Amino acid sequence: MNTLEQIQNFKGKYPKQIWSLFFSEMWERFCFYGMRGMLVFFMIDQLNFEETAANLQYGATQAFVYAFTFVGGLFADKILGFRKSLFWGGILMIVGSLILATDPHQFFFLGIAFTVVGTGFFKPNISTMVGKLYKSDDSRRDAGFSLFYAGINLGALLGGYLCIAIGKGEMLSSVIAEGARWNVAFGLAAIVMVISLINFVFTQRSLGPIGLQPQMMRLDGTYYPIEKWKEYGVYILSLVFVPLIMVMVAKTEYTDYFMWTIGPLVLIYLFYEMSKVNAAERKKLWAALIFILFSILFWGIYEQSGGSLSIFAAKNLNKDLFGLDPNGVNNSAGAFFIIFLAPLIGLLWIWLSKRKIEPNTVIKFGLGFIFLGLGYYVLFATRLFADLQGVTSLNIFTIALLVITLGELCLSPIGLSIMTKLSTEKLQGMMMGLWFLASAYGQYVAGIIGANLATAKEGSTNYDALIAYTDGYKQLGIYAVIAGVLLILISPIVKKLMQDVK
Ligand code: GLN
Repeated sequence: MNTLEQIQNFKGKYPKQIWSLFFSEMWERFCFYGMRGMLVFFMIDQLNFEETAANLQYGATQAFVYAFTFVGGLFADKILGFRKSLFWGGILMIVGSLILATDPHQFFFLGIAFTVVGTGFFKPNISTMVGKLYKSDDSRRDAGFSLFYAGINLGALLGGYLCIAIGKGEMLSSVIAEGARWNVAFGLAAIVMVISLINFVFTQRSLGPIGLQPQMMRLDGTYYPIEKWKEYGVYILSLVFVPLIMVMVAKTEYTDYFMWTIGPLVLIYLFYEMSKVNAAERKKLWAALIFILFSILFWGIYEQSGGSLSIFAAKNLNKDLFGLDPNGVNNSAGAFFIIFLAPLIGLLWIWLSKRKIEPNTVIKFGLGFIFLGLGYYVLFATRLFADLQGVTSLNIFTIALLVITLGELCLSPIGLSIMTKLSTEKLQGMMMGLWFLASAYGQYVAGIIGANLATAKEGSTNYDALIAYTDGYKQLGIYAVIAGVLLILISPIVKKLMQDVK
């Protein structure tokens, strides 16, 4: 078995174990984004939901998915360890997608609820393990997370495209009977999740001690294993959550209550944990919290892609980019750009670090916001290319997505990386969960912003919609730039809190 020393003393740009995590996460994201891409369409087309109800329930599932990462991270730290959490989460995701594959019409919310809890156990903990491949002062860590992020998006792109295409019968319709298309589409999510777990099981040996179950310390300083009943208790508890989530997703007002309570509760718990660490560690956790809070704003603006931007794409964009469908471009261009740009930007960080001019994390975050803001400004500028019907250029829109993606790459993988650097050893999973909980709030905020943008009045023309949306995007762009500048201005304070961490 590799020792931690041997793993972390790797030569070259990336530790070789990263590929195991890369592929497991890639297939998990295939499953996740594959399902996510089918939800709204399936609810409207197959379950006869009203459009608003479908969108609200979709938003609820997204909020719960990311909220459960906190629970998954917490239990990984305290009881299961990262590997068992990942495995348990993967099993739940497989069960969820198999339920959907069997009878998606009858068991829709049951399958979704399993997937929600499963993702909570899988997603934060695999990310934390990437961080464990590096020594605390290794400057190649951000590059590793950028590579890992490319894997995330490769899975997202493939799953997001293939599952819905099969379900709708746009692909393989000659070999799959019409009545079985949705079963096959959800079944595909189950199959790739099995691949993800098999890949993990066969490669986990190379991870040495990384992700093993934590041990308890006796008063005399010796260790003993966690009691089995606690481990089984977590498994049972997570199953108890399944029916609860089913109820909460079905009645979306519960999502509001949930979102209003979970955040404060989690913060109180964080402050309790912070009271138990030393002053230097506490400062780092404060810095982590600042990054987490800023990321809520980032995702709130960024996540317009699933909401208002998809309506904008349908109504206001032409096909001047190779005749491609504007909604298809809106759904997939971000992931497409990331697959190519993420490894390059990772190498750029390494190159800059060798020359001692790599920007630190606060500045990278600031840049993330500024790119996001510029991207939204380009979205605003699409109105300058519009015809009298309010239809404008998909090319310009795609450039906006490219700029937004550059922002994402300065913030999202870097955020994963900084969580692993700023957390104390015993709080790694929980802090990663908190990072994703911010995404849950981001999704939530994005829904509210999107709904406000979409208040186009009865009888308004396409051109009015163009003006209303692009005005909104300009506002969002300005907020993003302000946040970026603010971050750069407060960077000396945050850097002080971070101490030796870059
Ligand atoms: N797209 C990324 C992923 O799926 C980031 C998601 C998020 O943090 N909101 O991992």
